[in-house]
Amino acid sequence: MDLKDRPEATSSAPDPSQPQPLLGRIAVVTGGSRGIGSQIARELAASGATVVVNYIRGAEAAAGVVAQIEAAGGTASAEIGDVSKAEDVTAMFERIKAKYGRLDVLVNNAGILRDRTYKKMSITDWHEVIDTNLTSVMYCCHEAVPMLLENGWGRIINISSFVGQMGNFGQANYAAAKAGILGFTKSLAIELARYNITVNAVCPGFVETEMWNSVPPNIQEKILDRIPMHRVAKPQEIARGVRFFAVEGDYMTGQSLNINGGIYMGW
Ligand code: NDP
Repeated sequence: MDLKDRPEATSSAPDPSQPQPLLGRIAVVTGGSRGIGSQIARELAASGATVVVNYIRGAEAAAGVVAQIEAAGGTASAEIGDVSKAEDVTAMFERIKAKYGRLDVLVNNAGILRDRTYKKMSITDWHEVIDTNLTSVMYCCHEAVPMLLENGWGRIINISSFVGQMGNFGQANYAAAKAGILGFTKSLAIELARYNITVNAVCPGFVETEMWNSVPPNIQEKILDRIPMHRVAKPQEIARGVRFFAVEGDYMTGQSLNINGGIYMGW
């Protein structure tokens, strides 16, 4: 669809009974070039949103996601930007504002791993993970919230992890970042509720991504033994949770949706 033909979104909540309830809305997915983020981008586009696919290194992969969305009749564009750097994030949102003039949905999905046991973890391992997985969420919200306020409606969905809820061996940096996201989500939710902006988190368990496929079969089996449903999630199952918050979760804010096959059952 050409941008000029895009219907204007209103500040009222999307109607989930419509086939494309996000038509006219602009959504940004950080780290949308592959893995879970690319599936979230496709899911939101299938719901009618124009999706900005953010990436840092994977220009070709991001262009591929945009091409898939367009081939399916949707609208998308790719935007480079290192979400761990405030100046990159500011510049990226300025470009988005110049191009689309509005923002409705922000999905903070970009993330990295630098797994080490605590004894071996370097200060660099700590900062890279905290900057990319947690501080980035603040940077993106810092730029996005003023645009959401202009609409009188907005959805922020942060991708955390079950590791932020229960900890994990070799992931002290990652667990701290993902737990930090949950505290940030709740606080922002309290502050923004009065403006019709909800802030929620999705906490995936293990997900079938390149990372999972690279795990040796004997280790995969040990992990599967810890999961009551004895399988890992498909990226689509995480993306559907994100879509739920964007389209249907009107009276939900400050919540975390656990899509984890039962590996963590905390309230
Ligand atoms: P992938 O490694 O497959 O993809 C990561 C994405 O983040 C890529 O698009 C990458 O871009 C982007 N990215 C990384 N660093 C930056 C940066 N500094 N600035 C902008 N983009 C960046 O990850 P997954 O799909 O596995 O994970 C997605 C999210 O889900 C993460 O937050 C992760 O912590 C979380 N999660 C994943 C689980 C899993 O089992 N996979 C389980 C629980 C949570 P590029 O392609 O350009 O490098």
